[in-house]
Amino acid sequence: MNRQDFPILQEPVYGRRMVYLDNAATSQKPKAVLDALLYGYTHFNANIHRGVHHLAQVATQHHEEARQAVASFLHARSPREIVFTKGTTDALNMLAFSFGEAFVREGDEIVVSALEHHSNIVPWQMLCERKQAVLRVIPLQDDLTLDLEAFARLLNGRTRIVSVAHVSNVLGIVNPVQDIIRMAHERGIPVCLDAAQAAPHLPLNVQALDCDFLALSAHKMYGPTGIGVLYGKEHWLEQLPPAQGGGEMIEHVSFEKTTYNTLPYKFEAGTPDFIGSYAFAAALAYMQTIGMERIAEHEADLTCYAEQQLAALPQVHIYAAGQPKAGVLSFNVGQIHPYDLGMLLDRQGVGVRTGHHCAEPLITHLGVPGTVRASFGLYNDREDIDLFMAALRKAVAMLA
Ligand code: PMP
Repeated sequence: MNRQDFPILQEPVYGRRMVYLDNAATSQKPKAVLDALLYGYTHFNANIHRGVHHLAQVATQHHEEARQAVASFLHARSPREIVFTKGTTDALNMLAFSFGEAFVREGDEIVVSALEHHSNIVPWQMLCERKQAVLRVIPLQDDLTLDLEAFARLLNGRTRIVSVAHVSNVLGIVNPVQDIIRMAHERGIPVCLDAAQAAPHLPLNVQALDCDFLALSAHKMYGPTGIGVLYGKEHWLEQLPPAQGGGEMIEHVSFEKTTYNTLPYKFEAGTPDFIGSYAFAAALAYMQTIGMERIAEHEADLTCYAEQQLAALPQVHIYAAGQPKAGVLSFNVGQIHPYDLGMLLDRQGVGVRTGHHCAEPLITHLGVPGTVRASFGLYNDREDIDLFMAALRKAVAMLA
């Protein structure tokens, strides 16, 4: 789908068609996004918000329109709920720090799940160390889905927040986030969604989900690197202190007392990536022109097709086999080390990721050194899967 819009995909790898199946790590950029980056630096490069001159005003307008574009994409109530960050990791660190300062005391509990990316574990762990709080982990069932009965038992009067991945970056599983949010809310506990892997693949509606916070990265959504979003319900963001001090986040500064800016600027210290936000808005427009439902359908079809092909190969173990997946598939073949498979696939023009995928606790749970992960984007097609499978058969034959 739309492969021709992505210049990099036209470049051969080792003289072959590039089969790029590492979209969970980062996605390629359509020409519309590359053009937007060049357009920004060429036509309106000036620091935003503080300038009275023409360029500063144009740049400010584009940045605020981008915020509105994100709010629309997520169906947020207001652009005040959209904080620009450097990415998902930055957003989760910011939240863990601010939320921790406001609400977490010694003996309180934070809940994450057993399949989280390190960026949705370590910031909470750091918070727990700082505040003498306790990290609780939702366990997995045998089929690698989250154990919601165990989750219910974890929630108690000391639970301050629940933070879980919407889609697992290793397994591709779509977690039952609506159940998780409902169960937490019944006890008055807020929920943060790590949507780094959901946002590129699924239509998102923060009001329908009713999540309290959500984090995402533009670079996984066909946008530029270095920019992402922390969404927060306004009433929550109002209660949180800023995570960083500096320019832009203040109302007045004196040596005696500093007062802070309104939302969302309170959380945006320093010069933001205003060219990045403009290009991110171009990426969102690009996805919306195709339609998130259509993207989701296309990728679900591809993932299903790939899983069927893989399952037919002897000695393949697909993780969370048969579960609905959003564009991500992890597997191993017999005792072959995933790294060896990755190397031989690469030599045939197929880019996959191997290793722990920044989710070591999950990989430890699976009891393997790592997995091979193929992850799909809107531009992948069945030809990519066929080339991947042919390359995989060859690699396995060489290594077996
Ligand atoms: N969470 C998940 C589920 C991810 O897949 C990733 C990226 N692999 C991240 C968080 C971190 O995103 P970033 O590196 O863009 O901050």
